[in-house]
Amino acid sequence: MIKTIGLRSRLFFSHMLVMFVSLDFYIIINRLTSFRQFNEDLEQLVQREIELSQLKSILIAEFSTTWHVSMMWSILSGVIAALLLSYWIAQKITAPLIQIEQTTRKFADGQLDIRLPSSSIPEINRLSRSFNRMALSLEQVEQKRRELIGDLAHELRTPLTTIRGYLEEIADERILLTAPLLERLIKEVRRVERLVMDLQLLSKAEAGHLPLNLQSISLKSLLQHVSENLSTQMREDGPILTFDCPSNLPPIWADPDRTEQILVNLIGNALRYTEQGQIVVQIQWDDHHAWVTVADTGSGIAPKELPYVFDRFWRSQQSRTRYSGGTGLGLAITQRLVELQGGTIRVDSELGIGSKFQFSLPLKGFSSTQ
Ligand code: ADP
Repeated sequence: MIKTIGLRSRLFFSHMLVMFVSLDFYIIINRLTSFRQFNEDLEQLVQREIELSQLKSILIAEFSTTWHVSMMWSILSGVIAALLLSYWIAQKITAPLIQIEQTTRKFADGQLDIRLPSSSIPEINRLSRSFNRMALSLEQVEQKRRELIGDLAHELRTPLTTIRGYLEEIADERILLTAPLLERLIKEVRRVERLVMDLQLLSKAEAGHLPLNLQSISLKSLLQHVSENLSTQMREDGPILTFDCPSNLPPIWADPDRTEQILVNLIGNALRYTEQGQIVVQIQWDDHHAWVTVADTGSGIAPKELPYVFDRFWRSQQSRTRYSGGTGLGLAITQRLVELQGGTIRVDSELGIGSKFQFSLPLKGFSSTQ
């Protein structure tokens, strides 16, 4: 029961308690000292056999002295009792606040794993819980930041080492700078450039600083445009790319450049990870959204790896071992771009059978940003 008493009630009851205890002390001491003292004085008067006329003034004087002395003792003991009790109560209430202050200072000094214990005062307990939640999310952000820097360094190291190796050999005249070698070097530089640009785009999208030019667009004409651009990447012996887009598809409300980027990322991945077979891009719609499905008959993704596909720098074991030229940022960017425009994205895949990426974008008239 005492555990659920709030800070306001605690303060109120503690003041009442201090008042009653000091009053009790006052009354008890007063009663003890004044009665005893007055009794002793009367005893002395009886022994001295004083006349009744004199007795009145002596009694008044005695009563006054006794009253003052007992009053002094009562007030003194009442004040001491009130002071001790107030100090104890203040200690009880301020101890968790001091602990919060010390913990936040340690947290600010970099001890990110420090947490506050629960308190019997509900308000302070709520504050501790909020602090612990905030501390956990800041610790995770810090952990992600460290991982990101580690991943970035790792991703940059490979192309930079390759470039440096070739340049040193050319400088030592151990190899000649031929056209194919120059092409290889340009490819590595482009990879670094793409990595930096992707990372910049992702950080802007995650911080919500990516300007969106939302407007009514036709997904069908956008898909035609994307398929024309991708035709250069199609291999003769590669998969067949087909589009299934109904002609009565209502317009969507989205940014044309960002939507094109989403389609290029998903269809580009399907082309990259499908040796042979088919890639089908299909569009359907429900009451509020258009749904785009990019299905391929490629390498697929193992079930245990599926939860990580949208994480930055994540690449499946297979695509890490063979040179795919990817940065591992494409799907992370795609997910942010879809979500920024009010849609959702999901993936379904089977190893060795193929993958199906499906995303939605709001139809015109059904976007919260309209
Ligand atoms: P990358 O630039 O490496 O392609 P992405 O973020 O686009 O980076 O994709 C992350 C990883 O997801 C890829 O490295 C690959 O392992 C896997 N992946 C993405 N799309 C497909 C797909 N259609 N089929 C099989 N694996 C895929």
